[in-house]
Amino acid sequence: MSAALAVRRQAPPGTAITLVEQAGRLGGKLLTGEVAGHRVERGAETFLVRQPEAAALAADLKIALVHPAVGAAGVWVRDRLAPLPAGTMMGVPGDPAAPGLAEVLPPAAFAAIAAEVGQPAKEPLLPAGVDMSVGALVRSRLPGEVVDRLVDPLLGGVYAGRADGLSVRVTAPALAAAAERERSLVAAARAATGGPRPAGPPAPVFGAAETGMTDLIEAAAQASGADVRRGLPVRELRRRPRGWELVIGSARDPRVLVADAVVLAVPASPAARLLADLSPVAAEIGAVEYASMALVTLALPAGDLPGGGLPAGSGFLVSTDSGLVVKAATFMSQKWGFADAGELAIVRASVGRFGDAEVLRRDDEDVVRLVLDDLATVFGGPLPAAIDTTVTRWGGGLPQYAPGHLDRVARVRSALAEYPTLALAGAAYDGVGIPACVRSGTAAGTRVAEELVRRQQSGYGR
Ligand SMILES: Cc1cc2nc3c(=O)[nH]c(=O)nc-3n(C[C@H](O)[C@H](O)[C@H](O)COP(=O)(O)OP(=O)(O)OC[C@H]3O[C@@H](n4cnc5c(N)ncnc54)[C@H](O)[C@@H]3O)c2cc1C
Repeated sequence: MSAALAVRRQAPPGTAITLVEQAGRLGGKLLTGEVAGHRVERGAETFLVRQPEAAALAADLKIALVHPAVGAAGVWVRDRLAPLPAGTMMGVPGDPAAPGLAEVLPPAAFAAIAAEVGQPAKEPLLPAGVDMSVGALVRSRLPGEVVDRLVDPLLGGVYAGRADGLSVRVTAPALAAAAERERSLVAAARAATGGPRPAGPPAPVFGAAETGMTDLIEAAAQASGADVRRGLPVRELRRRPRGWELVIGSARDPRVLVADAVVLAVPASPAARLLADLSPVAAEIGAVEYASMALVTLALPAGDLPGGGLPAGSGFLVSTDSGLVVKAATFMSQKWGFADAGELAIVRASVGRFGDAEVLRRDDEDVVRLVLDDLATVFGGPLPAAIDTTVTRWGGGLPQYAPGHLDRVARVRSALAEYPTLALAGAAYDGVGIPACVRSGTAAGTRVAEELVRRQQSGYGR
């Protein structure tokens, strides 16, 4: 959608835009739904407002934002819910004295954090131009519990992956940059967090479309003026002397769409299939692996929960050494301050992550039962029957940026540099978050729009 909007803004006036979507609906990983009559997101729930692109898009489209009413999350560590320690960079502590660390880590690991600062390495921790996994960087300086109980839960919350498989350059770029200069990881994390927060009320970190993410998508579709064709997969992409030809629709009833320029804003596998004949190097994007997950949203009678209601906070992450199936849970009614939730506690739990998808082979009923069992453990007693439940499965939900991802994307893009009317966008390349996807789509739309303008000015094709 962002690519379509950028083309609409920047391509020659009158440019016709066709948006071909394989699914019967727009939005991809954005999908607003309902549980017990309450609007809830069944996919991406919120976006960073400190990265301005998504909030700016919403403002342009006159979509009002809401911000979480409660920010603080907890972390489930083996047998208790502890507040998530402050002052970390993606879970890497930047201050050995930060409140909460001692509650999450065993005493020896806690002590090792303070000791690490006093034992600087001989060289900076990350050589310039080298990538490694976040886990490898952290384990090179700190005990494994820091990975299991802090880094994995936080990275898992964003990427549904593990620290040992994710590139530090992509998933924690500020930490990677600081690690190029620093000889202590704790010092690098402190530098990356930007030090203590300035005085005054904190600015909101996250926002969401007040009436749901689906409204944001529909508003963008309308503003782009695109001819939206749903339920039609793009099956082939072919070069023509002066543009492109796309084969769309079912194998039995294929149709051909001719275009001057194309933006491919699809996940890595379909992108690789479409690029295979054009450039085997570009098709290397297909090597990006994806994590699958399911989100289970439950409406529970709040007063009947153990303790008479949800625990405080916006939800909890789960340490990897705790043995729960649930990887994270959001207390939606509490986090978003649902004014009309009344006696309902609405909880959204995620299960499944990269390399740990066994639970996803079970049917919905089983998945819900496992989630209820885990929530009973965390809440400290048996749960009342759910009033309503939804299960949303996201097969291939989140790309896993392995070490070397940036180089791979650079190779892919440079292999296509000779085609200025073809651009790639989306989470496979430039970041999974909604602001990053908006940025990526805008850049892709701008690339092809500028080329269309250039061609028009040079009289190309006349
Ligand atoms: C469960 C979940 C929760 C998330 N939560 C958050 C969050 O809270 N905040 C946040 O910032 N990010 C979140 N993310 C990440 C973010 O939502 C995604 O990374 C982002 O929306 C991806 O956008 P995209 O346009 O790159 O891809 P997608 O949303 O995957 O869109 C790609 C589209 O291409 C279509 N398509 C695929 N193949 C073809 C084809 N051959 N022809 C035509 N169409 C095709 C698909 O149907 C789809 O609509 C979450 C992701 C998931 C899965």
